[in-house]
Amino acid sequence: MQALLTCVTQRHDQQLLLAAALVCAVGVYASSAIASHAARSEGIARRQWGLASIIASGCTAWATHMIALLAFQPGMASGFEPILTAISLLLVIASIGVGVGLSLGRRGRLRRFAAGVIIGAGIAALHYVGQASYRVTGHVSWDMSLVTTSVLISLPMSGLALVLSGERNRALRRAAVPLLLGSIVILHLAGMTAVRLVYDPLVPLPASVIAPASIAPIIAAVSLGLLLLAFIGLRMTLNARAQLRRDQGRLRELASLALEGLAVCDGDVINTANRSLEQLAGMTQAELIGASLIRLLPGLVLADLPEQEERDAELIDARGQGVPVRVLRKAITLGHKHQTVIAFRDQRERLRSEARLRKLAFTDGITGLPNRARFGDLLAHHAAALREQANGFAVLMLDLDRFKFVNDTLGHGMGDELLRKVAARLSSVVAQEDVVARLGGDEFAILLLDAGGEARARDVAARIVEAIDRAFLLDGQLVHVGVSVGVAVAFQDGRRPDELLRNADLALYKAKAEGKATFRMFEPALAERMRARSQLEADMRRALDAGEFEVHYQPLVESQTGAVTAAEALVRWRHPEQGLIAPADFIPLAEETGLIMPLGAWVLRTACRHATAWSSTIKVAVNLSPVQFRDDRLPDMVASILEATGLAPDRLELEITEGVMLDDEARTLAMLTRLKDVGVGLAMDDFGTGYSSLSYLRRFPFSKIKIDRSFIRLLPEDPESAAIVRAIITMGACLGMTTTVEGVETAEQYAFVAAEHCGQVQGYHVSRPLPYADFVDFLTDTKLAA
Ligand code: C2E
Ligand code: CA
Ligand code: CA
Repeated sequence: MQALLTCVTQRHDQQLLLAAALVCAVGVYASSAIASHAARSEGIARRQWGLASIIASGCTAWATHMIALLAFQPGMASGFEPILTAISLLLVIASIGVGVGLSLGRRGRLRRFAAGVIIGAGIAALHYVGQASYRVTGHVSWDMSLVTTSVLISLPMSGLALVLSGERNRALRRAAVPLLLGSIVILHLAGMTAVRLVYDPLVPLPASVIAPASIAPIIAAVSLGLLLLAFIGLRMTLNARAQLRRDQGRLRELASLALEGLAVCDGDVINTANRSLEQLAGMTQAELIGASLIRLLPGLVLADLPEQEERDAELIDARGQGVPVRVLRKAITLGHKHQTVIAFRDQRERLRSEARLRKLAFTDGITGLPNRARFGDLLAHHAAALREQANGFAVLMLDLDRFKFVNDTLGHGMGDELLRKVAARLSSVVAQEDVVARLGGDEFAILLLDAGGEARARDVAARIVEAIDRAFLLDGQLVHVGVSVGVAVAFQDGRRPDELLRNADLALYKAKAEGKATFRMFEPALAERMRARSQLEADMRRALDAGEFEVHYQPLVESQTGAVTAAEALVRWRHPEQGLIAPADFIPLAEETGLIMPLGAWVLRTACRHATAWSSTIKVAVNLSPVQFRDDRLPDMVASILEATGLAPDRLELEITEGVMLDDEARTLAMLTRLKDVGVGLAMDDFGTGYSSLSYLRRFPFSKIKIDRSFIRLLPEDPESAAIVRAIITMGACLGMTTTVEGVETAEQYAFVAAEHCGQVQGYHVSRPLPYADFVDFLTDTKLAA
């Protein structure tokens, strides 16, 4: 150590040492600036500038070394052996070239270490080969242990320096250059200390050596060259910086226009952020710049994010709140620098509208209740969880009884309002966790979730019927609707959703059939009856094709003369196994299934055809179902049948029950008028049974009233029935209508109504309904009798 110090302070020219340090610094700057430029360039330029940088760094090491050697004052004549001097320069350039080539673009630490060792070896060679070229007047000997030690220390140092140069951490990278320089200084000083010069005038300087005075200009020229290169490097660095600033400025301008949040990052440090990102993160520009991207997107590993591929992520804003975003990464080059742009797209609005849509898809727009789809999901969910009776649930199917009437008479707005009120009442009857849904139209469904079993289902159903039975106040008007409810209890009445729904539906059907405004529990017999019904329906379709239906005729006679004036057509089904079936057993089902349309048309056609064979003084009466009456094409159908059969329109009488008049008065009047215009007679059937109203009779163009047979049954004894029949006959006469009394079974009844001057009599007393052939015989017989 002492020897080392003495060597530096006493045996060296201090000014030249300073010059060596200066040339070294300038050379290191020049080579690194040019190397950076090479890194920013592409193609041939990149290779050329890379080569220049390698040569410059070799020259730096060489020139520094040579100046330091010049600074050495051996105290005797000295000189440089030219070939070895040139070799030392070539060796260092070559080793640096190989070392750089080895470490370029590769992140492997071992590889970089090897490159560093090669460069170190080149520098060591520079020193010792260079020093070997140093000749004096006398003997040169070496302290080999010092030489070996210096090489052993410096090689790992330069290896480590290159490892550090490739590290991500900036502080580590910074440590690379001093470490490399340190290794060089050690080599140089150790080399100078290890050499021992012994003056011997007998050993003259070889003639070929170059005197220090002659080599100095060469070294100076090389140093000047390095200085020039340093200037060029400086210019290029400044240019690159200016370019970077310009690019960044332009990018910032663009980014400020973007609606999406944008951040430009160097590694994972944000160096530019736009307004949208400030708003998104709730942070200021100052807070964002310099922040780590991990701070904003803790859940995202940038390296895992493929370029140009959007990813869902959560941005943590200034208040620590998560904001759903989609992020997109793109690598860009800014002023030759590789940077990353991260785009943030705010997903809150999209997620909100998606949630809104989802809600819309699962709720009923009018009542806000869950809709059919949602109800199905919930039912499926609970059915899947159903294990035992204890956690059972019940399904209630509801159907409003007179909703259509309200909708038609008060308008759709009021209809909607009514649905909302119904929904509110239903919700108030059930518990919070139960589900009330609107399936569509006037159909509702309820899922009773608590395990009260059948008892609770019964109780709730009863309370629902009661709640909906109370009048609703709509636009200042009291409206009565009523609801029918069918109940199926999970486990006992089925376990699968479809089974439960079907069974609740069957119970509902029964509730409706048995008087409405009531509820029915499902029972297995219902399913059996249902099966029988669908059997009947299939049977009926077949029967229609097979011609199993026939029309019977019941005569209507003039009460005073007993002459047959008309016949009522009554349909029968001659079933191959069950014999003759009465209309009461199949008409309701035909009406429900729509089969009444072809059946009714067939009856009408048959009756008209038969009637053409009778005396033209005898009319034919045909019953119309409300279902037929609702069809707008009815008058045209009647007209075309009349035309096809050739029956005079005034010989046909259509019987309509009061029921059809309830739905929609305006439509009823229009339909009746159109029928009347066809030229047929219209009879009001079963008068007195329904909501008979005098006003109907006055307003509608009926030509006949048929008094229902329930008023005749107790005649002539019952005074009340007698009074009613008398009143209706009088009223009919006043309105200019014929009155027919139905169901006259006895001679006394006949005598009574004849005495009251009713127009016509119909009943078993005159004749039962007869098959066509028998009726024709009946006509002949009465004629003969007359
Ligand atoms: P409705 O229109 O009131 O027909 C009269 C019913 O009273 C007939 O029953 C008839 O047999 C019965 N009847 C007649 N005289 C007496 C009597 O003295 N005593 C008693 N107890 N009953 C008597 P039917 O033929 O069983 O028809 C029942 C109902 O079926 C009819 O009642 C009518 O509403 C309907 N209907 C019959 N044929 C047709 C049809 O072709 N189309 C439509 N839509 N309905 C029909
Ligand atoms: Ca009738
Ligand atoms: Ca009748």
